[in-house]
Amino acid sequence: MSESAHPGGTSQDAHTHQTNHARHVDCDDYDVAIVGASIAGCAAATFLARSGAKVALLESHSDPKTFKRVCTHLIQSSASPTIERLGLRGAIEDAGAQPSDINIWTRYGWICFDHADLPAPMRDHPAWNIRRETFDPMLRELAAATDGVQLMLGHTVHALLREGTRVRGVAARERDGSEHELRAKLVLAADGRDSSIAKLAGQPTKLRPNRRFGYAAYYRDTPLRTGSSAQMWLLDPSAAYAFPTDGGLTLLACMPHKDRLPEFKADPEAAMQRLFEGLPEGPPLDPAKREGQLVGKLEMPNVVRQTTSPGLAFIGDAALAADPLWGVGCGWALQSAEWLAESVAPALSADGDPAAVDRALAAYAARHSKGLDAHEKFCSAYSSGKRFNPGEKLLFRAAARDAELTVRMAQMGGRWITPQEMMTPRTIGRMLRVNISRSKRPRGLRERPAGAPVAAVAQAAKVAPAARVAQDAAAAAAGGAQSRATATVS
Ligand SMILES: Cc1cc2nc3c(=O)[nH]c(=O)nc-3n(C[C@H](O)[C@H](O)[C@H](O)COP(=O)(O)OP(=O)(O)OC[C@H]3O[C@@H](n4cnc5c(N)ncnc54)[C@H](O)[C@@H]3O)c2cc1C
Repeated sequence: MSESAHPGGTSQDAHTHQTNHARHVDCDDYDVAIVGASIAGCAAATFLARSGAKVALLESHSDPKTFKRVCTHLIQSSASPTIERLGLRGAIEDAGAQPSDINIWTRYGWICFDHADLPAPMRDHPAWNIRRETFDPMLRELAAATDGVQLMLGHTVHALLREGTRVRGVAARERDGSEHELRAKLVLAADGRDSSIAKLAGQPTKLRPNRRFGYAAYYRDTPLRTGSSAQMWLLDPSAAYAFPTDGGLTLLACMPHKDRLPEFKADPEAAMQRLFEGLPEGPPLDPAKREGQLVGKLEMPNVVRQTTSPGLAFIGDAALAADPLWGVGCGWALQSAEWLAESVAPALSADGDPAAVDRALAAYAARHSKGLDAHEKFCSAYSSGKRFNPGEKLLFRAAARDAELTVRMAQMGGRWITPQEMMTPRTIGRMLRVNISRSKRPRGLRERPAGAPVAAVAQAAKVAPAARVAQDAAAAAAGGAQSRATATVS
């Protein structure tokens, strides 16, 4: 467990000069110090500062436009209300984000739904696909423009300050070697799946293996039969995806079983092309239309951490990095940031009493666990590389034939309900009846006008997103109480 040069420091430590190390140490007090200015960190900073907290947001990259490169960036619809409360919905639409219901293929047929047929609240909140290149800078700009947030780019946190066993701040280093100590009532680790803060804190962490790997690239002029909706092929055990996204691009991705790793290592794009050639009603993968590099990720275990300890909380991937196969991490980064902010804001805006902050952290931990544990277990079980079990086969076969079961699957896939909530006695009964019925036929792929929505929204990307972010964020901050009412999850 690392400690700073001033463990248990008092307010007299402010503006200390460590002349013995020939370096300058600034020390400043904040309500919250957040490590990592990506999705989770920027969202938490924005929400916390809106509630009156003084926030330091530290990011090791120095470019404000930095973004995560290895991500297929489907944001599940359950996270849409958080995007709306941040005030970013208009800005992401303007920037070309594609509303992305997912059409799933299994060998039993296509499982497709019309968004308008979904029950509220899911019906009112689309899933989105937007490149991280577009989304991350937007979130960072929003956080930096929020009163109370001090965005500190190029600051790598390398140690935790402590008072006894309680975390009381962070030590950060800039590229030029200058050191800063920031004391805070609460430290938030938003530093991703390989969290260095977890290592510094000795945070209990479980790793669950993932027997798949991923490759993805963007392709231009690659329309889908499903228009702006996404396609996902569950090939049992491998998977493939096509996501229309902003900029008029289509992201083609695959997550093959590790048995196929030698084939992909030899020539990833040729292997991916062969895989896409075999996809029912899939788009052609034409290497000549590729924009940018083909990106691969060979190891992506599920990471599950204890979400809090005294004075310290984990959000986003730092708390839980589930198998990317299900496209849940960006949404959970947004949601866990909002849950954290809602839980701790009252304690921070009182006097920040450590006992009250820790009670609030316990409430956050319970909310995180209630919201995500069941989903994590589902994701981790499938990432073992296993084939469909008999129950899954019955469900997929029935959902390909029955609209009601499709909607239940859409609610679970959009992470509005847990796998257990999906499998009610009614769902199980219906699933069995549909499977034995001779009259229920596979409903097939719901085709939509190819290309039209993508082109229309790509045109809108010419609108300056920055102005829209500022305008909408101000409205969201002012109308927070009203929009919060849409948060109910069925
Ligand atoms: C192959 C793949 C595909 C994926 N596809 C999807 C998808 O389709 N949909 C989806 O929802 N999710 C997807 N994900 C998951 C998604 O990318 C993550 O869940 C998401 O990025 C988590 O955001 P975050 O803010 O928690 O962390 P990150 O985005 O990882 O950001 C962490 C930040 O912390 C900073 N940092 C780290 N250490 C320090 C330090 N010591 N000091 C200062 N700063 C630091 C980093 O520079 C970075 O900016 C995918 C992941 C992978 C690997």
